[in-house]
Amino acid sequence: MAQPVYERVVVKLSGEALAGPAGFGVDQAIVEAIAADIAACRRLGVAIALVVGGGNIFRGVEVSNRGVSRPTGDTMGMLATVMNSLVLEAAIERHGAAAATLSAVPMPTVCDHFSRRRAIELLNEGRVVVLAGGTGNPYFTTDTTAVLRAAELDCEAVLKATNVDGVYDADPKRDKSARRYDRLSPGEALERNLKIMDSTAFALARENAMPIIVFSIREPGAIEAVLRGQGRATIVAG
Ligand code: UDP
Repeated sequence: MAQPVYERVVVKLSGEALAGPAGFGVDQAIVEAIAADIAACRRLGVAIALVVGGGNIFRGVEVSNRGVSRPTGDTMGMLATVMNSLVLEAAIERHGAAAATLSAVPMPTVCDHFSRRRAIELLNEGRVVVLAGGTGNPYFTTDTTAVLRAAELDCEAVLKATNVDGVYDADPKRDKSARRYDRLSPGEALERNLKIMDSTAFALARENAMPIIVFSIREPGAIEAVLRGQGRATIVAG
């Protein structure tokens, strides 16, 4: 079997990736499959920080029309990411890998607060570090968080799990003529307004020369396959 291409990565999971066909909440079978995949990657010796979204529960921008301010809505979204993180932490440990959640929103009775130093210590101890609470600030996304933490924690790449097998120039579910990229630069992704990540995330990736590997989480063992350089993916790199 091929050796891993990377030694230290951020894996970004959207909240929707945990939701399954219902499109909402947490599908336990999916969580178990993802946790098994991550535990297998740990057995390969790859250091993993996991950033989880919250879109399966709450997105701040969706509540601003319900009398809740955007910053408050975003806080609710960040809390949703904490719930998903705790689900994943427990599942990863059940599958035999040590894990620890750090939250960018302080909640000392729940988990430790994120700091770069603590996260690096935990990674070096061999734990999967689950990064909850996004950046801790409203108006950001967990995609931006993933790129930010990858840069801070000296990771070599962001592995962005999606429901499709890479980046397309149009939505492949709606447009049969959509063209798939094997590789493109973050600048091209920004110029072409490709919706795979928000522009802040792409800009940060470009400034920090952080590769983003976009792949489908739908296949079992997808994260391990990408780490071994075998999965079908689009590489977004300068
Ligand atoms: N969020 C935020 N700041 C952050 C990260 C996330 O305010 O740094 C909020 C925001 O409301 C966002 C929600 O948390 O919509 C869930 O995150 P995201 O939309 O990135 O989740 P995903 O789409 O990956 O499930």
